[in-house]
Amino acid sequence: MTQANGPKFDNSYRRLPDRFFSAQVPTPVKAPALIRINRGLAEQLGISVAWLESEDGLQVLAGNRLAAGSDPIATVYAGHQFGGWNPRLGDGRAVLLGEVLDAKGRRYDIQLKGAGRTPYARGGDGRSPLGPVLREYIVSEAMAQLGVPTSRSLAAVTTGESVMRERPLQGGILTRVASSHIRIGTFQYFAGQGDLEAIRTLADHVIQRHYPATAGAARPYVALLEAVFDRQAKLIAQWQQLGFIHGVMNTDNMLVSGETIDYGPCAFIDNYQPDTVFSSIDVNGRYAFANQPGIAQWNLAWLARVLLPLLDEDQDAAVKAAQQALDGFVRSYEAAYGELMRRKLGLNQHDAESEKLASTLLTLMADSEADYTLTFRRLAEVAATHPAEPETAGEGGASDSVASLYQLPESFESWLEQWRERLERDGRDPVEVSRGMLEINPAFIPRNHLVEEVIRAAVDSGDLEPFHRLVDRLGQPYRYDAADARLASPPRPEQVVANTFCG
Ligand code: AMP
Ligand code: MG
Ligand code: MG
Repeated sequence: MTQANGPKFDNSYRRLPDRFFSAQVPTPVKAPALIRINRGLAEQLGISVAWLESEDGLQVLAGNRLAAGSDPIATVYAGHQFGGWNPRLGDGRAVLLGEVLDAKGRRYDIQLKGAGRTPYARGGDGRSPLGPVLREYIVSEAMAQLGVPTSRSLAAVTTGESVMRERPLQGGILTRVASSHIRIGTFQYFAGQGDLEAIRTLADHVIQRHYPATAGAARPYVALLEAVFDRQAKLIAQWQQLGFIHGVMNTDNMLVSGETIDYGPCAFIDNYQPDTVFSSIDVNGRYAFANQPGIAQWNLAWLARVLLPLLDEDQDAAVKAAQQALDGFVRSYEAAYGELMRRKLGLNQHDAESEKLASTLLTLMADSEADYTLTFRRLAEVAATHPAEPETAGEGGASDSVASLYQLPESFESWLEQWRERLERDGRDPVEVSRGMLEINPAFIPRNHLVEEVIRAAVDSGDLEPFHRLVDRLGQPYRYDAADARLASPPRPEQVVANTFCG
């Protein structure tokens, strides 16, 4: 049977010049088995779930068979990794099967990650262990449900083969979906080659594909730069308001589309500490939580540098435009972050006072090792009680309240008074304020100890049930249900998983 309801490919990147990629067929695997299909995403993409679940679908998701219209490639890119320049990276273990358009005409890459070696594999085996596949599935889908622009996970399979790391591990393949996989590092690769024509071709492709409104600007490439910076500013603001740590913000891991990509050593903060690092390889804390906005700007400065020759015929004017765009990034980031924080606190508007309330709260949280997510969730709950009721352990009975999991520390008392006072001045109905706060402050995030726990069950015991349960639960992050209290709870000291690893 052919895949009548499989993807309908239209491969625009494949039509770019040959030096942008290598034709690359996935390497077959021995005995693939399906772990999970993302039904909602499949429907959005117009790909039949029944086909994905069929034998034909499985073989395509495993890289053993090509779907009609797929013309697979591995793309080339470069990048700064932990600040060090690498002139040639590329998809070492990922194969782009092709692009599809959803019902609204939006274009998406469909890529297999872990599909075998490519010309860019260098010393790598082209494969991925099951653990990192499950981690990426969980966290990328949680991010999507939390409203963060991100690559998505359409499917995960096991390969029936083992992957050698420190010891043999089960292999897995993730089907990743993103509106493109064009990185800052993709531009950097061509800059490293001195290939200005390719930079222009790529920039035109990106304008057409992601930023069509900039095509008509007086200086389209300046407008492109500003638009990319703006989306990245909004993206990083989302990470910061959620307590998400990417962990490996190399320039090859930042997409010009403004979506989060490369869920390797990422994790969410439990107790708030701005210098938190999870990644075992980030020994100097370059990519610590609080550094993320500054690192994003550093990365974007490289994009600006690469585009300089296109920005303006007058290179002094080009540098000035790039500098202004970078300043614009800082302004956009601060505006976006300030706006998100004032919403998290239920305030009417972002102003100096809302910023002060947010920053003071963060300091208090750091001092008291307060749980970041549950602090905001609990504030959302107490915002409904007016006038203020004292926090008591006894009131934790309601099934839609996290009070039995978490109490605000006593050291918050005078801050709470100031916050209440501002809420009163704002003058909105407390129940309405609370409702708004519950819509931005999640109860469920993919806490690192839970991610590790479900991976361990899958990898060590072949038990995928906890993985499925966690993914399902994270599908509704804002709806607390006491039946899943365990999945909302911070780790007990002995449950803390402080380190994450690349796959
Ligand atoms: P990452 O740290 O995931 O951003 O990957 C950095 C580079 O290493 C990219 O070029 C990847 O394609 C490549 N890479 C990572 N793991 C493997 C692997 N197992 N085999 C081949 N290439 C890999
Ligand atoms: Mg990467
Ligand atoms: Mg990676």
